[in-house]
Amino acid sequence: MALGEFELIGKFFSGGRAGRNDVVLGVGDDAALVRVPEGQELVVAADSIVSGVHFPADLPAAAIGYRALAVNLSDMAAMGAAPAWFTLALTLPSAEEQWLAEFSGGLLELAAQHRCALIGGDTTSGPLNIGVQILGLAPTGAAIRRTGARPGDLVCLSGAVGDAAAGLKVLLGTARTAAGPDRAYLIDRFMRPTPRVAVGLLLRGAATAAIDVSDGLFADLGKLAAASRVGARLELERLPLSPALIRSEGQEGARACGLQGGDDYELCFTVPADRYEDLRQTLQPRGHAIYPIGVIEATPGVRCHLAGTPVDLELTGYDHFAR
Ligand code: ADP
Ligand code: MG
Repeated sequence: MALGEFELIGKFFSGGRAGRNDVVLGVGDDAALVRVPEGQELVVAADSIVSGVHFPADLPAAAIGYRALAVNLSDMAAMGAAPAWFTLALTLPSAEEQWLAEFSGGLLELAAQHRCALIGGDTTSGPLNIGVQILGLAPTGAAIRRTGARPGDLVCLSGAVGDAAAGLKVLLGTARTAAGPDRAYLIDRFMRPTPRVAVGLLLRGAATAAIDVSDGLFADLGKLAAASRVGARLELERLPLSPALIRSEGQEGARACGLQGGDDYELCFTVPADRYEDLRQTLQPRGHAIYPIGVIEATPGVRCHLAGTPVDLELTGYDHFAR
C-alpha cells in the first residue's frame, strides 16, 4: 500500500530524537530549532547518496538508510566533531511501506547509536536520492582541519582500507574470487561502514590534520596534503589490508583496492612523530586501531614506496565529473 507524504513522514521519520534534550523543535514545523551550547562551534556537513552512483538500486533498504547517515557521521569524525542533529532530504520513486520501514530502521538504528537526532527534512518523488545534512559540535577552535599537516608528521589510518570497494565489486558481480565468510564480510563493510566518530573525538588536540577516506586513500591523502601545502610518502607494505580482502583479490589487487577504493570511511590523519606513541596509547586501550602508513614531506604530491623502493602508480580517486 502506498502512503501519502505526511503519513509517511509521521510514520517513519518522526521518532528519531535519539534521547537528546537540546532539540527545541523537531519534525513538524517549518524548520527545526536546536540549542548550541556556549563555547561550542556548530560543525555542518552534507552528503547525498544517489541510486546507481553510490550504491546499486537493489541494495537492501536498511543498508541504504544506514549508509546515508554513516557517510555524514564520518564527516563529523574527520573534523573531530560530536554529531548532534541531522536532516533528511528524501527523493523516492514511490512510497513503499515495506521499503520505508527497512530504510528508516537502518537509518535510525545508527542515529540512536550516535545520539544524533533527526530534526527535519523534505520528501519528494523522483529517482531515489538520499540527502543528509548533519550538524555537530566542537569546542571553539578545536575542530580538526585538512590544513595542519607538517613535514615529519606521521600519516596514520584508523582501520583497514579496500574492503568496501571489494564488497561493492561482489555486489556488482565483478569480484575475483570472494566466497563464503569473506564475501559476507566484504559486503558488510560496504553496506555498514563504521563511522570513526569516537576516534575523531580522541584526535582533537593530537592530530594536525584529518580527512575521511571516501574517494580512495591515495586521492584523499592527496587532498589533505594539498590543503596543507605539503606532500606525503606512503610505505605500501604498511597499508592495513584485511585477510579477507587479500584472499579475495590477491596481494596486488588488495593493495589497489586499498589505495583507490573509496567507501571505507576510515580516517586518514597526521600526527607529529613525537606525539604518535601517546596517541597510540590513547586509542588502542579503548579498542581503536591506529596504523602508521607513511610520512609527510615538504615536496607536494603523494609518493608510494614498496620495501624502500619508489613505485610508480597511475592512481586516481573517484571523481563524479571526470572522463
Ligand atoms: P514545508 O512545506 O514547510 O517544507 P514539509 O511539508 O516539507 O514542510 O515537511 C513537514 C515537516 O516534516 C517539516 O518539519 C519537515 O522538516 C519534516 N520532514 C519532511 N520530510 C522529512 C523527512 N524525510 N524526514 C524527516 N523530517 C521530514
Ligand atoms: Mg519542505
